[in-house]
Amino acid sequence: MLIAGLQKTTLIDYPGKIACVVFLAGCNFRCPWCYSSELVLPLKIVNQPRISEQEFFNFLNQRKGLLEGVVICGGEPTINKDLPKFLERIKSLGFYVKLDTNGSNPQVLKDLVRAGLVDYVAMDIKASLNNPIYENILNEDIKMNDIKESAEFLKNGNLDFEFRTTCVPVVHAKEDFIEIAKWIGGKNVKYYLQNFRAEKTIDPEFSAQGGPASGGEKSKPYPTEFLQEIAKEISPHFKVCQVR
Ligand code: SF4
Repeated sequence: MLIAGLQKTTLIDYPGKIACVVFLAGCNFRCPWCYSSELVLPLKIVNQPRISEQEFFNFLNQRKGLLEGVVICGGEPTINKDLPKFLERIKSLGFYVKLDTNGSNPQVLKDLVRAGLVDYVAMDIKASLNNPIYENILNEDIKMNDIKESAEFLKNGNLDFEFRTTCVPVVHAKEDFIEIAKWIGGKNVKYYLQNFRAEKTIDPEFSAQGGPASGGEKSKPYPTEFLQEIAKEISPHFKVCQVR
């Protein structure tokens, strides 16, 4: 378990709970617009500060009664073989757990949920099923069916969850959001549109600052009003549909 960051308090990352965020290094995707490249690219991960599990659990013990939950974020947390044990330890201290995932490991997700180790899941929806970007960012061992299986599992289960998409103009057209809504929509589904931040991205062309390839067309976010219009249009498909 490579803990590469810890945000000691957040009021916005775990719906309805005061939480901390623990950042696990390593990811099986390479989304070009990703702004956590330091948690994804091995050459950057080696330069990240490390927090030992002991340090993290010392922190958590001191926050009993002050924090309610722990957000497990990445990178992609489910690629860590030690994740179940890590979550067991967190749960044994009485904290709620929120897992952020790209949905690439449906079996791990199911095992964690069925073992009662997760209380809330936020799953990224990268694009609609017919947008070729999904195939481009998946590593060769991951199939589109894995993503679909994770989404179906959450929709058909009893656990509190949300889907969310980071919206990037050169990747997502308006039709994408409509297709996403048809795919993942449901009476129990919360869906959030998040505007893209052109910072320290994996592909420098998606970055607004730094390097000769940056600051071009790919680094421009959507106007918030446009995302709000989209959210309004697709909201009949969801229990909740909002721009974050
Ligand atoms: S956006 Fe998420 S899934 Fe994509 S590369 Fe970054 S951490 Fe991995």
